[in-house]
Amino acid sequence: MAKKCIICGDEADLSIKGSSENYCKECAEEHFADTNLLVKVEEEAKKIKDLVEHKAAQELGDEADAPVVPDESEEKPDSE
Ligand SMILES: [Zn+2]
Repeated sequence: MAKKCIICGDEADLSIKGSSENYCKECAEEHFADTNLLVKVEEEAKKIKDLVEHKAAQELGDEADAPVVPDESEEKPDSE
């Protein structure tokens, strides 16, 4: 499941934001002066995991937040 550097085939630590291209640290530093463009593969995976967990939590929250049964203080129409 380890990602591979698209240049040397080594295990990749970094990937480009918004892309599926992965690089090992050495190649990344060689090809990108600014490694801020790159994100750590682990972090990206963690982000996705967090997102999924967050979403799941949100769904659970929605359920707990289900509409409450309204108070039965319905006013009776004044029928005369
Ligand atoms: Zn490499």
